[in-house]
Amino acid sequence: MAAVDGKSVLVLGGSRGIGAAIVRRFTGDGARVTFTYAGSRDAALALAAETGATVEHTDSADRDAVIARVRDSGPLDVLVVNAGFAIFGDALEQDPDAIDRLFRVNIHAPYHASVEAARKMPDGGRIIVIGSVNGDRMPVPGMASYALSKSALQGLARGLARDFGPRGITINVVQPGPIDTDANPADGPMKELMHSFMAIKRHGRADEVAGMVAWLAGPEAGFVTGAMHTIDGAFGA
Ligand code: NDP
Repeated sequence: MAAVDGKSVLVLGGSRGIGAAIVRRFTGDGARVTFTYAGSRDAALALAAETGATVEHTDSADRDAVIARVRDSGPLDVLVVNAGFAIFGDALEQDPDAIDRLFRVNIHAPYHASVEAARKMPDGGRIIVIGSVNGDRMPVPGMASYALSKSALQGLARGLARDFGPRGITINVVQPGPIDTDANPADGPMKELMHSFMAIKRHGRADEVAGMVAWLAGPEAGFVTGAMHTIDGAFGA
């Protein structure tokens, strides 16, 4: 029996890519999974039909909707905050409203979701946030807002680990390097540059990230909290 068998899991942003791999991993391990989507309705419904997970529309840019979704899905044994995106380009030319939306999805939602989940989470619960190796290292221009957002998750985990540690609730950040998804396809134009930084010169697979998330959700990781877990082929080494 897998460690999460029968446990209640919410994945914010699970319709595609890394989030979908996490949904597949947890449902495969016997968990009761709910996941959210914003724009990819068809993909979300197909994944729900494939896995038996429950699917809900919740835009992570909407703070109150995120809090309500977490509250209404609880009590949760495991919360995974995966929804996130990047905006590329000259910082001097970027639309400040678009940048603020990025901060709402990538920073505000992880904070408010984590706090709301902890209200009803049983002792020993797990909160896992998907950050990025770009929280540690940003080797190219045009992605400062994304780097800021992923660095912010490090402070989130360090701080909330203190708040929730007495209840045995852990909070950790998984920091992927290049992973083959719609957001960063393995055959994309940045492939050669990204691989040049890496010791293992390939994109990672979403299921490899899901494996790390599953370990953090399990009993062997009960003493692991407030920590960053990089899975990047040594992109940031
Ligand atoms: P994808 O673009 O392939 O998928 C993003 C997922 O997040 C989709 O399910 C999408 O749902 C959901 N999402 C995005 N915005 C929202 C929103 N406002 N509300 C709800 N859900 C939302 O990205 P990846 O799978 O590549 O990335 C997943 C996470 O991993 C992100 O946090 C990203 O920053 C991080 N990451 C990815 C890396 C990579 O190389 N791929 C590297 C490092 C970190 P929908 O389409 O339904 O809106």
